[in-house]
Amino acid sequence: MLISIVIPLLNEEENIPYLYDELNEVMGAIDADYELIFINDGSTDKSLDALKVLQKKDEHVVVVNFRKNFGQTAAMAAGFDYALGDVIITMDADLQNDPRDIPLLLEKIKEGNDVVTGWRYDRKDAFINRRLPSIIANKIISKTTGVNLHDYGCTLKAFRREIIKNVKLYGEMHRFIPAIASGMGIDFTEVKVNHRARRFGTTKYGISRTIRVVLDLLTVKFLLSYSTRPIQVFGLMGIISGGIGFLIALIMTFQRQFMGVPLSDRPLLFLAVLLIFVGIQFISLGLIAELQARTYHESQNKPVYYVKSIFRSDPPTKEPEKEVDADC
Ligand code: UDP
Ligand code: MG
Repeated sequence: MLISIVIPLLNEEENIPYLYDELNEVMGAIDADYELIFINDGSTDKSLDALKVLQKKDEHVVVVNFRKNFGQTAAMAAGFDYALGDVIITMDADLQNDPRDIPLLLEKIKEGNDVVTGWRYDRKDAFINRRLPSIIANKIISKTTGVNLHDYGCTLKAFRREIIKNVKLYGEMHRFIPAIASGMGIDFTEVKVNHRARRFGTTKYGISRTIRVVLDLLTVKFLLSYSTRPIQVFGLMGIISGGIGFLIALIMTFQRQFMGVPLSDRPLLFLAVLLIFVGIQFISLGLIAELQARTYHESQNKPVYYVKSIFRSDPPTKEPEKEVDADC
């Protein structure tokens, strides 16, 4: 079995040697081959030099050097593209994740899980701007996606290769990989992992990340629930809106024609017109989204289902097809 450790990093020069030593110790004790894939996400300090030194002395080390900063999610996606392992483990480079938790993650994968996620149950970050928003975000994400995890933000996670190879990442989506993959029907579990305070360097994120995460959640929810049937969301909204508008218009027409109530001083008329228009818009949007969904799946050969295993006896050998006589 080959294990790939994927580590995105931005300006972590002081952390790299310590991280490597810790990883070297843990991975050396595991009975499996491994590779350490560092993705240098446009660092402006001496991170690249530190990585090159490691790569020279250890053939397990792979360095992917970005042309500029593309973000942690993109760096992770690159790591997945270059990873050759059967199991892929992601972690931060700032020593906040503890490599000593890796054997536990691997054990859970061996037990049959497709994804194992870390839970920083004793998180060593500031409360007000990091832990509190994270607690709220985790609750919202769990409720919306139906994937119950305590800690989406922990980068220390392990994935079976086939899961990761079917997931495309955009925006800030790396934390949603378990949720995205849940759409494939995966088995996953969560384990408590150690979390340490940052010793060197600074965090790369501020409070604005919470907003970006919430927006990404919206996308993930939509993709998970409706990407194969968008007309059912937009169509329903359209029918409700258009229906109410039509009803109001009908009542007003009735009142105008048969009860002599004039239309000129009734602002409700505008609401009726607005609702009908919005309804038509929603339905059209749903139809366009249906077209998009087909392009999305067919252009990428993305299946609408995922098979875990197939049980059957040897398939019957196929008879050679007889030529059909055109005259018959
Ligand atoms: N990181 C990255 N690119 C970025 C931002 C962050 O590769 O644009 C890396 C960073 O070097 C670290 C990991 O992502 O290894 C997590 O970042 P950070 O520790 O700043 O996040 P926090 O732990 O504060 O949530
Ligand atoms: Mg960190």
